[in-house]
Amino acid sequence: MSVPVVGMSEHDFKAALKKTRRAIIPVGSLEQHGSHLPVYTDSLIAEYVARSVADRVGAFVLPVISYGVSFEHKPMFNVSLRNSTLSTLICDVCISLTENRIRKIIILNGHHGNIGVFQYIAQELHGRLPEAARVHTIHYWHMMKAEFDHAGEVETSLVLAIAPELVRMDRAAPNSKKLSKSKAAYSSITNVPGSFPKITGNGVWGDPRKATAAKGEKWIEEITAGLAKTISELA
Ligand SMILES: [Zn+2]
Repeated sequence: MSVPVVGMSEHDFKAALKKTRRAIIPVGSLEQHGSHLPVYTDSLIAEYVARSVADRVGAFVLPVISYGVSFEHKPMFNVSLRNSTLSTLICDVCISLTENRIRKIIILNGHHGNIGVFQYIAQELHGRLPEAARVHTIHYWHMMKAEFDHAGEVETSLVLAIAPELVRMDRAAPNSKKLSKSKAAYSSITNVPGSFPKITGNGVWGDPRKATAAKGEKWIEEITAGLAKTISELA
């Protein structure tokens, strides 16, 4: 039973609260995703998978928080929050939800640059929530076996499955610089503001020309099943 909070009335809220005390907060970003995908990509994916897993586990689905920490994409398009701002925002939303009798909160993260904030959310909220309340974060790409990318085969396939009208496959191009360093080096370098265009050349990580809607549908099923299992393990 998915209860999207967008479109929910007070009446709907009270009725649904008898069936579930769980809420999912999808969090994305607003940042360049190459010339072929919308800047809203991470938010779009996070909100979509939040709704699809809520159908299986039962949950309220909050409107997506579509601002994240994306300074690594400078000087390409990004609208970014500082870590402290996103942390404060998420903490306030969680506290407010518990005042509305929600007891299980899942933050469903759709953007790599937000990871640092979510690692410390439980510490930030410690002692500020009712005893029975729990807050957990899941990064959706951890549910996939495929290697994650940025506007490459994976993300492009996901958007082709969710909102094909937003994809310009005629403009899809792989990273214009060769990615030859180690994964460890890149995961350290990409924490630096402005690093992403320097590494990739054109802001794309991976090859979006390999993307198809069928792959996207398969991965969404894998993500949704993984999320449902993980959420049941957290319960
Ligand atoms: Zn993305």
